[in-house]
Amino acid sequence: MSAEQQYLMLPGPTPVPASVLRALATPMVNHRGPEFKALLEEVTEGVKGVYKTRNQVVIFPAAGTGAMEAAVVNFISPGERVLAVSIGVFGDRFASIAERFGARVERLSFPWGQAADAEAVRERLQADRRHEIRAILVTHNETSTGVVNDIRAIRAAAADHPALFMVDAVSGLGAMDLQTDAWQLDVVVSGSQKAFMLPPGLAFVAVSSRAMEASRACTNPRYYWDLQSALNYLGKGQTPYTPALSLYYGLRESLRLIDAEGIDGVIARHARYRSMVRAGVKAMGLQLLASDEVASAALTAVVAPPGLGANRIRKALRDRFDVVVAGGQQALDDVIFRIGHLGYVRDLDLLAVLAALEMVLAGLGQEVKLGAGVTAAQRVLMNEEGR
Ligand SMILES: *Cc1c(COP(=O)(O)O)cnc(C)c1O
Repeated sequence: MSAEQQYLMLPGPTPVPASVLRALATPMVNHRGPEFKALLEEVTEGVKGVYKTRNQVVIFPAAGTGAMEAAVVNFISPGERVLAVSIGVFGDRFASIAERFGARVERLSFPWGQAADAEAVRERLQADRRHEIRAILVTHNETSTGVVNDIRAIRAAAADHPALFMVDAVSGLGAMDLQTDAWQLDVVVSGSQKAFMLPPGLAFVAVSSRAMEASRACTNPRYYWDLQSALNYLGKGQTPYTPALSLYYGLRESLRLIDAEGIDGVIARHARYRSMVRAGVKAMGLQLLASDEVASAALTAVVAPPGLGANRIRKALRDRFDVVVAGGQQALDDVIFRIGHLGYVRDLDLLAVLAALEMVLAGLGQEVKLGAGVTAAQRVLMNEEGR
């Protein structure tokens, strides 16, 4: 079957709505002309709405990892101490980028499947009496495990410490609440291919004035990622280099969709997806990697039954039903599979995926009562709608 008819249930890239696909086909304009200036100003304001911020937001043509690198090279100088809070693959990546650019990185790691403990962060920062730690790196939604960190609590734990607070919200922003200004987050990075319902290729960086101040003293070299240069151009309604124009048209449309629903409506919808998928998977007798308290609303990590590898389940889902789910990364390869449910996903997509999963499990010889997972998810859906 063609890719057009797949159930693309990945934590990125995610399905793109038809109206966004049409917007992507808009003809090119001069990126140094008035049309692009208006487009750039409109989408920058729109992205700020999703971030819940009045801070500056810069858009780079890049994968999400580019925004993480931009966060490092603009704010962290070689030799500076950094506290990298990691609960999985993406937390480790943020730490590795800082290391590669010469920071002295201290990792505060937690077991995969758990969230970071805000008290541990508080203790570590309190012990840093001379304020040698210059930046704290934290993942909002850890995509490798389906765990969401309590960013508000971790930020509060760091309250009196002057280190810059930097958040990787690539897969969390737009799916779960993140309040850049209210929670005083200095640098928040995100990307287009997760909850923004766009193809990959745009990376976002929100920067507080405190962080911009710090960037002036930062000695790491940067050229493509230079935020000051990007902000100077933004003031003129331009970008320093050729922008990914098509994606800007798509972004204008996806922001229009988000605005029509309201960002808090979008967040509530993702919370419902979490409840539906978790209830469905539990009713099939499967284990979940994350506990309910820390479970992501963007994706669900399911532990494969003992003796039945996660990748066999994924292959059967794909071959038989065109349902595409993600595998586990690194140590979790073949141990878990990850059902993405962020961005342009609908309730019935989830029921279809749960139905397919039941049939695949039964076909692979598992004890599963057909309909049990679908029914549990339907119940959640009907309860949430107050019927
Ligand atoms: C997807 C993702 C990224 C960036 O991924 P790219 O492949 O570089 O776009 C970074 N952090 C998290 C938490 C992610 O989920």
